[in-house]
Amino acid sequence: MTQCYRNYIHGKFVDNTTGETFEVINPATGEVVYEVQVADETVQQAAIESARKGFAQWSAMMPVERSRILYKAVALLREQNDELARLESIDTGKPIQETIAVDIVTGADAIEFFAGLAASIEGNQQDLGGDFYYTRREPLGICAGIGAWNYPIQIACWKAAPALACGNSMIFKPSEETPMGAMQLAQVFTRAGMPDGVFNVVHGDGRVGAWLAEHEAIAKVSFTGEVGTGKKVMAAASNTLKDVTMELGGKSPLIVFQDADIEEAVSAAMLGNFYSQGEVCTNCTRVFVHEAVFDAFMQQLLERTQNNIIAGDPLHPDTNLGALISAKHRDLVLDYIEQGKQEGATLAYGGSAIQPHSAPGGYFVEPTIFTDCSDDMTIVKQEIFGPVMSVLRFSDEQEVIQRANNTSYGLAAGLMTRDVRRAHRVVHQLQAGICWVNSYGASPAEMPVGGYKLSGIGRENGIETLKHFTQLKAVYLGMNKLESPF
Ligand code: NAP
Repeated sequence: MTQCYRNYIHGKFVDNTTGETFEVINPATGEVVYEVQVADETVQQAAIESARKGFAQWSAMMPVERSRILYKAVALLREQNDELARLESIDTGKPIQETIAVDIVTGADAIEFFAGLAASIEGNQQDLGGDFYYTRREPLGICAGIGAWNYPIQIACWKAAPALACGNSMIFKPSEETPMGAMQLAQVFTRAGMPDGVFNVVHGDGRVGAWLAEHEAIAKVSFTGEVGTGKKVMAAASNTLKDVTMELGGKSPLIVFQDADIEEAVSAAMLGNFYSQGEVCTNCTRVFVHEAVFDAFMQQLLERTQNNIIAGDPLHPDTNLGALISAKHRDLVLDYIEQGKQEGATLAYGGSAIQPHSAPGGYFVEPTIFTDCSDDMTIVKQEIFGPVMSVLRFSDEQEVIQRANNTSYGLAAGLMTRDVRRAHRVVHQLQAGICWVNSYGASPAEMPVGGYKLSGIGRENGIETLKHFTQLKAVYLGMNKLESPF
């Protein structure tokens, strides 16, 4: 019999009353690994009640006390890194070499960063000729976090870290496809000494997410997911004028100039398309290569893709290309590849589903590279969220800036050049919230990240995010006798 997990409310796992459950499948085997109870009405009510109590206790603590508990959680996450990485790989299909090095580490980094800031949140004061005012940065209340399936524990940490450091409580709903990471994080927080109700986890599909977005007791929703879902969440949040943070999709460009180091440019393109089997929001799925270096770039890209990619059991340490999240998503990615071929792009590499010996039942797709792409092709315009790279030629700086910006998304962009003036000139014209120069994908906790245009609202990480999880109160002090015409 498969194990059945429950919702995590007020420091413990609780039963629902309807008995409704859903199954979680290991994408690398296609088999059900465990079941999870849906948060029904009883659980939902308990989650709100608990988060209210959690908020009252947590927000009344000294910031430095909150900080100590968060640091303790960081230590526990690091101690448990390898075991948590294994669970994350089973949920997501991602190679263990990634989850061990990145997923839990970067989640813990964010908690550590915000733990360090908790005690430095302050207001200011200004003299007004006797009278004066001062400001206080106060927490918002109960915040909701709604996560995507591609970086489950990292997303939960990135949302919880600033929210909790600022004194809020959080109810987090992970994706139905990957609910394990958030449950693990909740237990870590409890073991670290966090008061019950500060971080609750509710399970279920979009209906549970929609309930959170609408609920009047919730002050803010921090959402990670697709643009279409983000719009729904924002519309639902508007009924109670909730604050929102939206971390949404992208179709980011990587621009390889003629003076770039080609080996590094190929590394950037491969990292930004094949890491996490392409299921990364910031992926540079439109790779613009200057015509003078196009052939050299392609030669090395094809050689390295052919020789260096190892698809297989995500738990094997050599595997560097894992399984896509579901059969449905694999089929969607394959449909995009088919459309690419039909619309006239040249399939330079890959393009098919694969069944590696070590994981024959998994949802794998070969790393796929298209050339002879034009800007109006479906594969060049739409987010695919799989290992599918479109390579495009360009000849002129202004032309490529205009083409790079010619999208409704604006999450990220990268450029490879040795010319420092060009680097800044181009970056300043790119419509993207995150820009990498001679690098791609690095996202340290110190750096604020988020999208322009349809890619999002607000930021995660960086000091900036403290503003998104607090509200400013201005307090005016009348020191002189109050004058009145009445
Ligand atoms: P999704 O389908 O939009 O789902 C995201 C979350 O929203 C899931 O927990 C989902 O629940 C929930 N949800 C679905 N309908 C909802 C509704 N009406 N109200 C409230 N919540 C609802 O996205 P995904 O397929 O999980 O993730 C892939 C997308 O996330 C890509 O577009 C990717 O670019 C984006 N992403 C962005 C970032 C970033 O930082 N910008 C990071 C990672 C991913 P269920 O899944 O359980 O149905």
